[in-house]
Amino acid sequence: LVLLFIKHICGWTEDGPKRGLFGTPAAFYGTVEQQGRMTLHLHFLLWIAGQLPLHIVREKLMSQDSDFTRELTEYMESCFVGEFMTGSKAEVSDHDIPEGYKDPTLTLPEAPPQAFCDEPETCGCENCVEVLSWWERFKLTVDDILIRSNKIHATGKGCINKDGVCTARFPREVFMQTTVDPKTGHLNMKKQESSINDVSPVVTATNRCNTDARCLLSGTSVKAVVGYVTDYITKGWLKTHQVFSALHDSFSR
Ligand SMILES: [Zn+2]
Ligand SMILES: [Zn+2]
Repeated sequence: LVLLFIKHICGWTEDGPKRGLFGTPAAFYGTVEQQGRMTLHLHFLLWIAGQLPLHIVREKLMSQDSDFTRELTEYMESCFVGEFMTGSKAEVSDHDIPEGYKDPTLTLPEAPPQAFCDEPETCGCENCVEVLSWWERFKLTVDDILIRSNKIHATGKGCINKDGVCTARFPREVFMQTTVDPKTGHLNMKKQESSINDVSPVVTATNRCNTDARCLLSGTSVKAVVGYVTDYITKGWLKTHQVFSALHDSFSR
């Protein structure tokens, strides 16, 4: 599954990097962690080719280069969403269950129709009607998987520290639109649902389980995640080592 993810989602093929879901990949780094309940869990970092140095991105955002800001915003919003695709959490939870409904976490994704025109929204030909109805099903499925699998965070006793703040940083700050703070160059991604992490809809639809995805726009957060991911490898080794030593003990008795 991880190899398929690397090849088809990231675009890292046997013949070299090809355009993937997020662009052409320049590098990747990932580890599979075994959780307490023995389930496997992937942490993955992807570098995209052609990425400007981060200080240049910041400069361009601060200088209010509107074309750059618009294009970066469009790219980011095409990669990640911070809310459900078909309505609010309450609306999504309330969706009617259609006849013949199957739990999407137990089915394979439905491939989109092969053929469609440049402007499917206005075209109206048979192929384009097919594409639009597939897209509606896609959005409903993504939301259904999010409601079922992504931990909708209810802040409670377990996550509150001594200052009364949720240690998982929920509820997240909500932004109705993606905006740039002109003083700091900080990009606040649109986020309308405070109780879920950002996700990539295509990653959700293809993996059909709890996932989250986000863009790391600072060197510090990249380093933090590298440290976090590496920590899992180290922890993993430690566990393997403990397992072996326990095995050795039981055999030598
Ligand atoms: Zn058409
Ligand atoms: Zn919490």
